[in-house]
Amino acid sequence: SPLSTESKILIVGAGTWGCSTALHLGRRGYKYVTVLDPYPVPSPISAGTDLNKILELGSFAGDDADERYVSNKLLEAATEGWRNDPVFKPHFHETGCILAATSDEARSHMNTRDGPSEAGGWIPLRTKEDFQATMPDGVLTGEFPGWQGWWMQKGAGWVHARKSMESAAREAVRLGVKFIAGEQAGRVTSLIYESSDVQGAITADGTRHFADRTILCAGAGAAALFDMKDQLRPTAWTLAHIKMTPEEAKLYKDLPVLFNIERGFFMEPDEDNHELKMCDEHPGYCNWVPDASSEDARQISSPFAKHQIPLESEGRCRAFLRETMPHLADRPFSFARICWCADTPNRAFLISKHPDYASLVLGVGGSGHGFCHIPAIGSFIADAMEEKLDDKLKQSFRWRPETAKGRDWKALQGRFGPDGANRVMDFQDIKQWTNIASR
Ligand code: FAD
Repeated sequence: SPLSTESKILIVGAGTWGCSTALHLGRRGYKYVTVLDPYPVPSPISAGTDLNKILELGSFAGDDADERYVSNKLLEAATEGWRNDPVFKPHFHETGCILAATSDEARSHMNTRDGPSEAGGWIPLRTKEDFQATMPDGVLTGEFPGWQGWWMQKGAGWVHARKSMESAAREAVRLGVKFIAGEQAGRVTSLIYESSDVQGAITADGTRHFADRTILCAGAGAAALFDMKDQLRPTAWTLAHIKMTPEEAKLYKDLPVLFNIERGFFMEPDEDNHELKMCDEHPGYCNWVPDASSEDARQISSPFAKHQIPLESEGRCRAFLRETMPHLADRPFSFARICWCADTPNRAFLISKHPDYASLVLGVGGSGHGFCHIPAIGSFIADAMEEKLDDKLKQSFRWRPETAKGRDWKALQGRFGPDGANRVMDFQDIKQWTNIASR
């Protein structure tokens, strides 16, 4: 049926992209928008339910002119939102960013043509003293063995992830969007296939939610709801918090992001609980299990929730701290979890109408860099639904199963890790996990 603001729109997943889509559809005047999720916002399994995420105001894609066009378009829209949209602006901290690498290979990856340069306003960091001087005395007490990097003082920083997502959802509700949450009422078990189209979704309680357009924004969970033809690889990363004292929180306020692309990253402690979050860096974990829905012996990466991380990941977090802030290296973790995202083969987003199901719209494939786009990604998803994307965006965001044929599931996809973790790992191999008391 032709689309109008009277159309019924169903969004599956109230995570990062689902909340953004709800907000933008509300702003465009759609009156009947419903969002389904097993959890109220912020969903504990959403990749966006996190203290903070990095916002790099630089280009993501490589040499290709069309890719650059797309990444610049996305970045311009996101930056506009972080700087000017009252829904998002309070959650953006333009504290700058330090990018670093240790091995020759990772260094040359960092220093590609579009990478940081003095011409681009970055300050080179070559010695331990250079790194230490980027933060107040007493923060970076480490030796930075073998580190080389760059410092951007403005035009980059971090965003408070959970608060941005909550803010988007709150404004969407104010504009009339309806959120339905719950294991039974909100968890989608299947899409509704009728008349060669997708006409809505069924929730665990058996309710059939019919809609004129169904938008799939289920993140790493999308591949379990719709056959993505191997275009999504659910992959998890690891994060941990340590508790800081009020004095430390003061000293650490407004720090730039510190990101070594093969060691890990951290930002300042959060203002509410004074917890410092860090991620150890690696190409990710999959969870390879037999696909229950297929007849052959096919394996799929199946996401699961866990508020612990592998002990080996804790070890990497502590090794990262020992190089940068050894005074914190043995402090116990107050929280940790695995966090799932989904990679497309080229890590470009997949935002498109489905070629065979006219009423199905896909908003998936965050590929590890999808959070910082929350201010505007929903507008691109709405454009895809309204068939208004320009040709270059449409081409980049398209449904592209041909690019996932015979996919190399172990591809590093441009990521690095320290020795021993410079590969895509498998949770099935992990025997030992942290044992952090739940709070
Ligand atoms: P999500 O936010 O995960 O949302 C998916 C939603 O679907 C969830 O709310 C879930 O509850 C719901 N859902 C699942 N199954 C169902 C179902 N059956 N029915 C209904 N709903 C369902 N990006 C950056 O820009 N900067 C960063 O610094 C950054 N760091 C990251 C660090 C980590 C550890 C990870 C894992 C990711 C990081 N990312 C970062 C990537 C970013 O977080 C993701 O790309 C983005 O959050 C993906 O949004 P999404 O809406 O696709 O998925």
